[in-house]
Amino acid sequence: MTKTLAIVNQKGGVGKTTTAVNLATGLAREGHRTLLVDLDPQGNATTGAGVEKSRLEATVYDLLLGDCTWRETTVASAVEGLDVIPATLDLAGAVVELATLPEREVRLRNGLDGADSRYRFIIIDTPPSLGLLPINTLAAADAVLVPMQCEFYALEGLAQLEYTLRLVKRGLNPALEILGILLTMVDTRMKLCRDVSAAVRRQYGARVFKTAIPRTIRLSEAPSYGETIFTYDPRGKGARAYLTLTREVLDRC
Ligand code: ADP
Ligand code: MG
Repeated sequence: MTKTLAIVNQKGGVGKTTTAVNLATGLAREGHRTLLVDLDPQGNATTGAGVEKSRLEATVYDLLLGDCTWRETTVASAVEGLDVIPATLDLAGAVVELATLPEREVRLRNGLDGADSRYRFIIIDTPPSLGLLPINTLAAADAVLVPMQCEFYALEGLAQLEYTLRLVKRGLNPALEILGILLTMVDTRMKLCRDVSAAVRRQYGARVFKTAIPRTIRLSEAPSYGETIFTYDPRGKGARAYLTLTREVLDRC
């Protein structure tokens, strides 16, 4: 059965896109056909997966507006077994257009209908907000993965997100669950980071992935070469962490 995972956190810069790209790649490398859906107008997941934006005929924008099917918007990535529904800046305009369309919260879910016949996993990257794009993601997903940076306001942000998830469950998607919380950019030399990690693990227990993603410059360099961490620095701690995360996700699914 296909599992659709939404990578969400209303905060920017917490590692959503890095996680979406490298988890999707990890799953594909483990032999599971995976579709990465980029729902952020910045299109960083698209670039990170090695897709050249200038040559696209259709994007997730056309899918949301109902002008194209998922088959027409899907392109192959640089990774075997990983396809991408790309995003470009025109998606920013879609938010305004979406607001006036019928079924505006479930257009992604409707658009992806049938994609489960081809993929074992669908990973959706979202922009940092709680607007219509993340709502479309949550409506389309089976479960959410929440990347979280170890910073002072992290727990507060998580409480807000849980509130949104409850609203979505009640109104749009009763089956939605939290697959797990992922600690990202962890630097164990920093006391604040150790303290926040401990507090999150105390409060959320087994919902926090055992794997934590370490802070490493390699993870931020890889996308500028159109590569994922698995080819850019295959033996480094970033690749090892995302492989361990991939296996943990497989266990939880
Ligand atoms: P988001 O999608 O939540 O905005 P990104 O994945 O784009 O977050 O990450 C924000 C920035 O931090 C990017 O420049 C990215 O390359 C960098 N980054 C992400 N994860 C790590 C990490 N584990 N170590 C170092 N830099 C990271
Ligand atoms: Mg992002």
